[in-house]
Amino acid sequence: MGLGASRRTALVTGAAGFLGSHLTDRLLAEGFEVVGIDSLMTGDLTNLERAGRDPHFHFQLGDVREPIHVYAEVVFNLACPASPIHYQSDPYATLTSSVLGALRLVELARGRKCTIVHASTSEVYGDPSVHPQPESYWGHVNPIGERSCYDEGKRCAETLLTDARRRWGVDARIVRIFNTYGPRMAFDDGRVISNFVVQALRKQSLTIFGDGKQSRSFCYVDDLIDGLVAMIRPAEIDGPVNLGNPTEFTIAELAQQVISLTGDGSDLVRAPLPADDPRQRKPDITRARALLGFDPKVDLATGLGRTIADFRARLDARAGG
Ligand code: UDP
Repeated sequence: MGLGASRRTALVTGAAGFLGSHLTDRLLAEGFEVVGIDSLMTGDLTNLERAGRDPHFHFQLGDVREPIHVYAEVVFNLACPASPIHYQSDPYATLTSSVLGALRLVELARGRKCTIVHASTSEVYGDPSVHPQPESYWGHVNPIGERSCYDEGKRCAETLLTDARRRWGVDARIVRIFNTYGPRMAFDDGRVISNFVVQALRKQSLTIFGDGKQSRSFCYVDDLIDGLVAMIRPAEIDGPVNLGNPTEFTIAELAQQVISLTGDGSDLVRAPLPADDPRQRKPDITRARALLGFDPKVDLATGLGRTIADFRARLDARAGG
């Protein structure tokens, strides 16, 4: 077969990240030619080891804030630091990656037959006063807080892509991704699941921020990727779509699950709650179910078990190497 003959080409920005690399693997398995772009600001090439062995995968070191010269029928835009410690460590890079990245994709797709699936976030809802959060909720966001570079950057990217759709007919589709976890999460990205798993495997105390009564709803990565890929199937999707697992846990409950699954006998230690930390979060996925048939299947205990096994193997490899 000639280069790309009869294969659809997908561009994945942020391909070396946690979600980007899982999505890349899935698209290759589904028969796409995949171009992955990543600046490696927070991504890691080891996440692309499997994809790198596939002749249908092509990697470009690049920054989504610069013009992109790739022809693709489908673009998945995942290029942005996404964990609180990463996105707050360089707020300017975070905000510009969101907004300029969206602008570059509009330039790439405008006037062409190209579908953009843009990764937005549950952070657009801020510290929500409506629970669970449907797409129709406008959110409760601090425009000048420590999380604002991410929250407002993502909100502005949604605005830009929606205007491009209204004005120029750009087929931009927005997913609002809720907390997602699984193998390949960075050890040091500061998220609650990666922190707890690393701490438990190292027999350290698990750090509970605040009283531990704040809630999140955790989606296993394979389920999330099902939803992302499904976003390109309907002929038309207008308006954002929540993707996540609606089963809600408190952070204290999560800690207990990690401790019992690792069996390492860790205890808990309290630490201050970060500024603007949302009190509760749970997606209303009625729209994703209806539009995409989205139905997260992996429960927390099963997903944590797989995640712990992956973290254990990587920590052992690191200790051995
Ligand atoms: N959290 C915690 N201990 C940690 C890391 C995070 O208690 O070591 C809490 C954090 O304050 C938040 C929740 O866990 O309430 C989820 O945090 P994460 O950074 O994973 O994602 P967020 O949903 O806040 O973007």
